[in-house]
Amino acid sequence: PCPSSSPLLSVAAARGSPPQITSFPSLLSSPLAQIAPFLRVEWEPVLKGWLCSVVAVCCLYHAVPRLGRLPAILADIRSPWVLQEGATLVALGFARSAATYLQQAFLWEAATRSVYRLRVHVFDRVLERDLGFFEGKDSLLAGDVAYRMTAEAADVSDALYALLNMAVPDTVQLVVMATQMVAVNPMLSLLAALAVPCILFSIAYLGEILRKISRRASLCSARLSAYLNEVLPMMLAVKANMGETKESLRFQRLAHDNLLQQHKKRKMKALIPQLVQALYIGGLLALCACSIVLSKNSCDSSNFFSFASALALLIEPIKGMGKAYNELKQGEPAIERLFDLTRFNPKVIEKPGAINLDYVSGDIKLCGVTFGYGDDMPNVLEGVNLHVRPGEMVALVGPSGGGKTTLSKLILRLYDPQHGSILVDNHDIRNIKLRCLRKHIVMVSQESMLFSGTVAENIGYRDLTGEINMENVEKAARIANAHEFIAKLAKGYHTNIGQRGSLLSGGQKQRLAIARALYQEASILILDEATSALDSRSELLVRQALERLLANHTVLVIAHRLETVQMADRVIVLDKGKITEISKSSFLRRGGHCDLRLLDKVIV
Ligand code: ADP
Ligand code: MG
Repeated sequence: PCPSSSPLLSVAAARGSPPQITSFPSLLSSPLAQIAPFLRVEWEPVLKGWLCSVVAVCCLYHAVPRLGRLPAILADIRSPWVLQEGATLVALGFARSAATYLQQAFLWEAATRSVYRLRVHVFDRVLERDLGFFEGKDSLLAGDVAYRMTAEAADVSDALYALLNMAVPDTVQLVVMATQMVAVNPMLSLLAALAVPCILFSIAYLGEILRKISRRASLCSARLSAYLNEVLPMMLAVKANMGETKESLRFQRLAHDNLLQQHKKRKMKALIPQLVQALYIGGLLALCACSIVLSKNSCDSSNFFSFASALALLIEPIKGMGKAYNELKQGEPAIERLFDLTRFNPKVIEKPGAINLDYVSGDIKLCGVTFGYGDDMPNVLEGVNLHVRPGEMVALVGPSGGGKTTLSKLILRLYDPQHGSILVDNHDIRNIKLRCLRKHIVMVSQESMLFSGTVAENIGYRDLTGEINMENVEKAARIANAHEFIAKLAKGYHTNIGQRGSLLSGGQKQRLAIARALYQEASILILDEATSALDSRSELLVRQALERLLANHTVLVIAHRLETVQMADRVIVLDKGKITEISKSSFLRRGGHCDLRLLDKVIV
């Protein structure tokens, strides 16, 4: 087995006890029942589809006695009623085809629309999840989530379609054909009915095996998808480090696991309908033998042919049900894994009475903030106290891994501290509406925060009105010293910048990110090594622009450059989760190095 990257991905969970035999009523408690609220909205196409299926079965109902008379018709081919009977049969055939087509079209419409709603619901829930879900140690790989939302959601729509087909069209045809058989010959029908439990039992047993195999196959496919999602954007690292062979082997291993599981699944999927058919045909042959014996005294030939036609038409829904059961069993793990994404207890919760602040002056207080990324992980911040006054610019420096980025994430309330509190304008941020807080604080992160789309869309990303103000976009770009290079792009502000801004250089990306931060006025600006990828000339320009702009902003700048730190009113050192303030001049004298052992002497 391939190494699992998260608990949810583990194959161990899928293996285990041998399949338990489920009965058909267990369908009611199937995980598919969870999709009922999404299906309920689509009652119209469902109803239409079912009505069409009733029409199709009516056609069959009228065709069966005529099929019974077929030998007599053929024997008396020249008589006038032959034409009439023949034409009726053909018309019934056409009508049935048309009704069946409409039935399938409507039911597919209902199934795919419900799954569309389900997808939107799941994705909205995914968006609601804490940041920790996406970057923590237990996080699911992006590719796994993507696989669930695409391929597995498609499995759910197949299962749903199968369920809708089984619920009415197949059942109605089964009942009607069985009734006709009973009407023609109750004795033979009883014999035919004996085969049914046998068929149901074997389908149920195999279905359970199929469900387990499907789950394992899904896990393998998801792992493959997660791998591709990770490695494809990393091609620069792969090629530069000659990793092609290594990656090829990793891919082969995952693809081979996938092959084995898919192979098992396909074999089982192929087996179930064939087995049903074989059992059924066996039963049919036995019945034929019986009927030859019985027909001599209890059944005339026309009745016998009606009976045989009904019996032959009975095989259709039974086969359909076998196939549907296949789809259902395959859909069950898919839907479980999709709904898994929606089950979580958020840690960062907006209180019911949370307030909206129309204006924020930019006062930030951290009072005894202690934070670790998990209960079993060491604390990243340890009792941090800090007061940043409105309009002040504070430089946060310190060794990498010291907790600077973490601190800025806490101010944005992407995580809540385990102890202590953070106040903005003297309001505990846990009492402020999340969107309101994040409207007043803007962060330029050290990682690229760009999306595929145009330059203008990226700069105006924070615009909640849905309409980007081009004037503001250009103004922000000019301040961020980005206008010049944007103007040189093929389509200017309407140039597509590629996945994660891959068509731009590191410095250009940073300038776009800064422009986004400046697009809308926010009282608090957090620059997390936001200018680290700029050359010194660009940095100077951005810095000068910021200097002009920052007069009425509170700025927390995480930086290494002496020039940036020089702009700051105060310098704060964050090391091993603890904070110390040092005087600017002593920090600069040391050339930006801050050895904590020496700091004691220079603290102001
Ligand atoms: P800095 O920005 O000062 O370089 P960070 O705040 O990024 O440091 O990281 C501080 C510590 O927290 C590091 O030891 C890092 O490994 C850890 N860390 C950062 N992000 C996460 C995360 N999402 N989950 C677990 N640990 C994390
Ligand atoms: Mg950092």
